[in-house]
Amino acid sequence: MPSNNKFTGFSRRTALASTAAAASIAGLSPKPLRAQNRTDVVVIGAGLAGLNAALLLEEQGYNVQVIEGRDRIGGRLLSLRDVPGNPEAGGNGIGFGYGRMIDITERLNIPMINNAGRRQISSFELYLDGERISDEQWPTHAKNILPDAWRSFSPRLVPLILLSQTNPLADFEDWYDAKSKPYDISVYDVFKREGFTDEQIDLTFNLNVSYGTSAHDISALMMWFNDGWVASMDDGPPTQLSAIGGNMTIPETMARALQSEVHMGREVVGIRSTNAGAEVDCLDGTVYRAKHVVCALPLPVMRYMKFDPVLPSVHSKAISMVPYFAMTQVHLVSKEPFWEADEWSPDMWTDTVAGHVIANRHFLDNTEISSFTAWARGFTALKLDQVSPEEGMAWVVSELERIRPSCKGKLEAVHIKSWLRDSFAGGDYAVWEPGQVTDFLHAVGKPHGRIHFCGEHTALSNRGMEGAMESGERAAFEVMDAI
Ligand SMILES: Cc1cc2nc3c(=O)[nH]c(=O)nc-3n(C[C@H](O)[C@H](O)[C@H](O)COP(=O)(O)OP(=O)(O)OC[C@H]3O[C@@H](n4cnc5c(N)ncnc54)[C@H](O)[C@@H]3O)c2cc1C
Repeated sequence: MPSNNKFTGFSRRTALASTAAAASIAGLSPKPLRAQNRTDVVVIGAGLAGLNAALLLEEQGYNVQVIEGRDRIGGRLLSLRDVPGNPEAGGNGIGFGYGRMIDITERLNIPMINNAGRRQISSFELYLDGERISDEQWPTHAKNILPDAWRSFSPRLVPLILLSQTNPLADFEDWYDAKSKPYDISVYDVFKREGFTDEQIDLTFNLNVSYGTSAHDISALMMWFNDGWVASMDDGPPTQLSAIGGNMTIPETMARALQSEVHMGREVVGIRSTNAGAEVDCLDGTVYRAKHVVCALPLPVMRYMKFDPVLPSVHSKAISMVPYFAMTQVHLVSKEPFWEADEWSPDMWTDTVAGHVIANRHFLDNTEISSFTAWARGFTALKLDQVSPEEGMAWVVSELERIRPSCKGKLEAVHIKSWLRDSFAGGDYAVWEPGQVTDFLHAVGKPHGRIHFCGEHTALSNRGMEGAMESGERAAFEVMDAI
């Protein structure tokens, strides 16, 4: 059952200020170290969830082996170290309430920087049908088809405000309570109930979706949980932490803190659970044996894995049906400050394949722009994914040059990352469709024999990186209880 306590960042953080404290919460005392040739637990996936589970288990004396399919650590944390300022192609902002994330960076002495404020430096100017529309022009502009009460708001802010105003959850953690089923409806239904037309929904929610592909395929219940969770970050000082050198440093340092090295390049294709133990099959024929397995993989990856015995029907359905967000980023560097030439904001909210363009300020001097990221989401990402990476990068540059002539010859695309095309992720993160929160969320984190599941999609009280850490912690405690 969800707690009635709305945890603040501080309460989570102080409660889990050390692994020892975490273990004592679970009523555990450290176990003696086991012989190195005996594996207690195999953890599959060296992202935040798997690594957190592995560290917690090791600290309690269990022998743990971590298997990773890629040739790098970190999963959906990906810092672009060859782009100025090391922008993130994956998880970026660590907020005030990220107790577990902040705790691990402190315990492992990972240098962090607070970027709060850097993102608020300029406003996002709107580009519709090739026309730039400033904040001042928007309320009376001919393209502003919003209802009277909403005309002064930028289209990108309308969904955030509307969903916040209509949020029925007294406590955001109520989202996984069965009594919340009536709220597991589409965002489209919420907009319609509030009197918006299809054109107005297209201009606001669908233009650069924050989840899903359109207001039809996203659960308002997930968005209301998200709204409450994000609001809880306001309980503390403005916080947008990131690791110096890139957030990927965090899982890399966690992996180095393990007693044995992560087994890299081992793509898992099957997991067996028997009365005697568990076995993990890799594509290259390697088989790992342990008492228990922690599976820290994203749902789309599990669509191609064999579970023996087969998973319960509700869990199988979740694996095959819960979509992961299509997100493709193009990273750009600027040869000259084109925004000084036209004196417009460097940040852009567009209806082109460039989507939502953010000026990154990742140098120590936070007034200097280090690079740009064009975030293509939903259908926009799917469009970019239809062409080759080179064509995708060229397409984004040419669209920006078209809508903003001062960019011409000044912007160079240096990196493209499609999360949907990434076979070790299958998308950016889980986006629950209407009805899926109440149908599936309770099932995806349930153990199956000796197989325990974690990963951001199984988190109940947090999202993103902190959700991944929460889920790894829960899976570790489950295993400790079971062994
Ligand atoms: C573009 C983007 C922006 C984001 N922004 C934010 C943000 O601002 N704030 C925030 O909190 N979160 C953000 N997130 C989300 C956050 O990064 C993720 O929720 C989190 O990193 C997920 O961690 P995880 O351990 O659950 O999964 P993953 O990091 O995906 O870990 C799973 C691991 O399993 C491995 N694996 C996959 N398949 C196999 C296989 N068959 N065999 C072996 N190994 C396999 C993967 O390679 C990976 O290392 C963002 C994510 C993206 C992509």
